[in-house]
This record gives sequence, C-alpha cells and structure tokens, in this order.
Amino acid sequence: MAVRLEQDVSVISQSFETARPEEVIRWAARTFGDGLVMTSSFGADSAVLLHLATREMPGIRVIFIDTGFLFPETHAYVEQLRRLLDLNIWHYRTRNDPFSYLELAGEEDFRHRRDVARCCAANKNEPMERAMHDLAPAAWLRGIRRAQSESRRNRQFVEWSARYSCYAISPLLNWSDADIEEYLHKNDLPRHPLAAFGYRSIGCSPLTCTRPVEEDEDPRSGRWAGSGKTECGLHLEDYQI
Ligand code: SF4
Repeated sequence: MAVRLEQDVSVISQSFETARPEEVIRWAARTFGDGLVMTSSFGADSAVLLHLATREMPGIRVIFIDTGFLFPETHAYVEQLRRLLDLNIWHYRTRNDPFSYLELAGEEDFRHRRDVARCCAANKNEPMERAMHDLAPAAWLRGIRRAQSESRRNRQFVEWSARYSCYAISPLLNWSDADIEEYLHKNDLPRHPLAAFGYRSIGCSPLTCTRPVEEDEDPRSGRWAGSGKTECGLHLEDYQI
C-alpha cells in the first residue's frame, strides 16, 4: 500500500525530537492506517514497543523473524506476550533447516558461528526481505534507539527505506536504557526469561551471537562479541544478501 508523505521526512523527524513515543506512533497510525506494520525480535526491550504500539493500534501486524537459532526462552516469551497483548504475529521463518544449514555452511559446532555474515544473510535478512515483500507495508515501526550503538546514533525518527520500499519509523529513538526500564516497570510488563541471567540484548543462541554481559558493560557488547559486527543487517540500507 504505497503512501508518499507530502512533507520532507527530515522536517517530520525534527518535529519528533521532543515528542513522546506514543505521539509518534499515533501519527504513524493516523497517516498509514492498515499499511503500518511493526517488527519485533522479542528480545530484552521488546515488550515496550509492543505495548505502546498495540495500545495505539490494536491488531497491528507484528513481523517476527525466526532464524532457526533463537533461544527456546525467546519462543516462550513470544507466546507470553502474544497472550498478554493479544498480538497479531506474522511469523517468518528461515527457509533453511537449521541442522542442514550448519552442515552446508561448514559450521562444525552449533554453539558457535564461524561465518556470522553468511548466517545472518541466509537466516535473518532473507526472511525479513520476504516478509516486507509479501506484506508490502507503507510504513514500519521498529524499536531501534540511538543509545544502543554508534551505528544508530544518526538515525532519524522517520526515514525512507529504499531497501524495503516503505517508511521506517523509530518511536523510541531518543529513549535511554533507564527509560526502557522505567516503562517496563511502570506497566508491569514481563521480562524476557534470560534477562535475569545477564542477557541484556538478546538475539540468537550461539555464544558468538549473544552472551550475557556484566552490569557495567555496554548491553550490546554481548552481541557478536569480538567479531567487530554490531548489526544483524535488518536496519542497514546498503545490505546485500
Ligand atoms: S545472529 Fe548468529 S545465529 Fe542468528 S542469524 Fe545471525 S549469525 Fe546466524
């Protein structure tokens, strides 16, 4: 459902710098209607955007990418939040059988990943591109925040994504870790089961992809630790599968 904004996205983004996330979501729901979708990794912070979005737009389509290598606790959390928030989840799975993939890719130990770029392309970015192609949304709500990483520091509230042919809207962009914590607490939202074990940014289960971090460490330092990789690729425009 193609909708082109009349106003420049940089002007709209600027106007959201001091807005609350719910105001950004309300604007998106009003502007794009049923053409609005959201993505969720059902990770450590995910309950926040899911709660905010479903309060403004019950029934919003939630795209969930299943790489085949997620923690069982993540699947349990998906079900817990689905029931609690009455989520309309669109589950997009990798085309690969996980064990066949490991064998084909020459990955000898399922607890590690030697070639994270290849694995993220085949098992995370391909299903995401397929989801966006199938659903063809006009706009997409996502939970990225500037405080999460250097690569997210310059993101804008509303961006045109040529890769997915839709607007990408990031209502939580200016929120800190403390804001997230406060919202989870205030709204009595359940935590990801692994949060209690030091997992503060949660992706796939291999140790090379997600590990717990100490209290004084950057929460995202547990993702692809030591590899130099900071993004799975879903939020990159110049990504090639
Ligand atoms: S995060 Fe790890 S297991 Fe998940 S798709 Fe990327 S490389 Fe593969």
